[in-house]
Amino acid sequence: MNVLVHSLFNLLTGILANLSLYEIMFLVLGGIIIDIDHLIYMIFREKLHNPKKIWKFHKQEYKINRPHFYIFHFLEIILLLMLISYFINWYLYLIFVGFLLHWIIDVATYIQYYKKTRPWINYCFLFLYLKR
Ligand SMILES: [Zn+2]
Repeated sequence: MNVLVHSLFNLLTGILANLSLYEIMFLVLGGIIIDIDHLIYMIFREKLHNPKKIWKFHKQEYKINRPHFYIFHFLEIILLLMLISYFINWYLYLIFVGFLLHWIIDVATYIQYYKKTRPWINYCFLFLYLKR
């Protein structure tokens, strides 16, 4: 959603968790790069290849908070990535913790925007998306 809000939330969480500046950088990075899945969705599902059309679609969808199949925005995927990376590399783990913090802000935004669980909740939990 909003890059600045996500960055600030991840930054503050990193400070509160007493992480080093270097570690916080990875936390903030994770909060930003998670949205690469929006681009993946637009290219592979919407078949958009023109940067101008991609930008137009993004702006239009962002404005109305319409959820889509964004692979890294499913809680189960994020938790799995966190679990795997925890045993591989601390900084990679921090990036995925950044994903989780980003997810929390997105869910809060959906709750505030829609005031109900539909239609967004199916796009935040993989088991609900597969069940629908
Ligand atoms: Zn997001």
